[in-house]
Amino acid sequence: MKIEKTSFNNYVEKNVFDTIGNYKLIKPKEKIMIGVSGGKDSILTLHMLHNYRLKNDIEFDIEAVCIDEGIKGYREKGIETAKDNCKKLKIPLTVYSFKNEWNYDLDDIYDVYKSTCMPCGVYRRYLLNKISNSHDCDKIATGHNMDDEIQSFLMTFARNDQNKFPKFSPILEKIHENMVPRIKPLWKLPEKDVGIWCVINDIPIHNEECPYSVTSLRSDVKLMLNKIEEKKKKTKENIFKSFEKTFQIKQENVNLSSCEYCGQPTAKSPCKACEITEEINNIITGRQF
Ligand code: SF4
Ligand SMILES: [Zn+2]
Repeated sequence: MKIEKTSFNNYVEKNVFDTIGNYKLIKPKEKIMIGVSGGKDSILTLHMLHNYRLKNDIEFDIEAVCIDEGIKGYREKGIETAKDNCKKLKIPLTVYSFKNEWNYDLDDIYDVYKSTCMPCGVYRRYLLNKISNSHDCDKIATGHNMDDEIQSFLMTFARNDQNKFPKFSPILEKIHENMVPRIKPLWKLPEKDVGIWCVINDIPIHNEECPYSVTSLRSDVKLMLNKIEEKKKKTKENIFKSFEKTFQIKQENVNLSSCEYCGQPTAKSPCKACEITEEINNIITGRQF
């Protein structure tokens, strides 16, 4: 199927700009930190926020941060792609690693838990918030697309974890003094359209699969949804719309306190990052790196 570039670009921009506008994701004079991995979703978010600033009458600052988890043979390419795109758009980029913060790479601790994605996700969210806070940013923009959001929501059912329901939203409000609110400009954009946009616009992206992704529940849920979608088109969109209409749980119902060790916002102290750091340190003591 041949895709007409201009109309496709207009569709993607309208989809993303509508989400930003309708949900008031960005206010004038704010400083937005974009978490950029080099993958297609974060790269599209970077370009869309840049375009939004150019094409709309709104002034705001954009910075980018790339978290280096320490995945040899994989993450280096993502960092290069993030650098290339940021340079082209003249957006300042900070690269910060797990090793800077915890003295070990993800590769050193990949086998401590059943899924490597668990410590990786906890640490990445922790650093994104901490760095955005220290850079005085008002919001963190992430590249979560519609497919990610559906997967996350189904995963909360699979884990019987209703506390995560309020996260199903294009904006996560500030509910703690040290918490930088999250925004998801690609919230209503299907994953396949993110990929098509990058290809037809010749945008350099890091398109490899993380070697640890097979250990995650997310990859199973994604596979299942893609199989169903193949047989029955619009299934994902219908699931998304059902969620959107059914679950509008107010975030104010969620109370956060401060971690007694690091001061970061958390539902219970110590925070998950400090908790797993202690577990990991106990397990890896004596290992040779
Ligand atoms: S797939 Fe898992 S281990 Fe790999 S970068 Fe993503 S969260 Fe981390
Ligand atoms: Zn902590």
